[in-house]
Amino acid sequence: MDPMKPNISRIYDYVLGGEHNLEVDRSAAEHILKVFPAYPLWARLNREFLQLMARQWAAEGQTHVLDIGSGMPTQGHFHSVMPNARILYSDNDPVTVEYARTLIGDNLAVAYLEADVRQPEALLRAAEQHFHGERKVAIGFIGVAYFIDDASLARVMRTLHGWAAPGSVLALSQTFSGEMTETGRQQMESFKRGGVELLPRSEAELRRLVAPWEILEIASLEDWPGIATRVQASDRGDAKAGMLGVRLVRSS
Ligand code: SAM
Repeated sequence: MDPMKPNISRIYDYVLGGEHNLEVDRSAAEHILKVFPAYPLWARLNREFLQLMARQWAAEGQTHVLDIGSGMPTQGHFHSVMPNARILYSDNDPVTVEYARTLIGDNLAVAYLEADVRQPEALLRAAEQHFHGERKVAIGFIGVAYFIDDASLARVMRTLHGWAAPGSVLALSQTFSGEMTETGRQQMESFKRGGVELLPRSEAELRRLVAPWEILEIASLEDWPGIATRVQASDRGDAKAGMLGVRLVRSS
């Protein structure tokens, strides 16, 4: 791993309170935190959403999880909440993947693939293999949609829908912003300086991009039943921005 370059999954690990990060990541994170003090809370919201979905999927009898943009599999990630499921994690960052594989160790039910979701075919070939042909899956798409441009996201959603068997489910989160304020612009700029470009979207845009999946639930994660983290108005900086959660199903 290049100790000179910050990396989003390790920045994320740091703001979630983890230990799998370097000085360069902590310093990039501190820079972002100066203009976006609520960042750790948004990260916590995403992680609580992930854990809630995992518990729900386990209760529904989902046994195969394809997780996209997984980051570091620490801080209560899918394999710790669903120990009986077969799980394929994936991320396009080779450093994250290499590091994550050492964290997972010798668990044959859990694999970590280096893949860019914008080329979903390779990801699905690996899923086919890891899941021994099973296509009824639960798909994690948490904290990653806002790194993907509109055309790619729409294509990925269609490809996943075309591949997955009926009864498959997908959980996705997306930063949204009604109207970009000056604070919001500064926040996006601070990520950019840390090497990360974020694409906020409105609810209407997101609804259009996730088609043809059927939407079961769409709401701000702060208002989602069962999620404990709340972002105080004083922490928000930009009161109009937030994080949307969406629960989807492939019904037929
Ligand atoms: N899903 C985890 C969670 O919710 O806690 C981690 C989210 S982290 C904010 C986003 C991850 O998405 C990073 O590890 C990043 O490398 C990955 N990512 C960004 N663009 C990607 C792409 N095109 N394909 C696959 N992964 C991507």
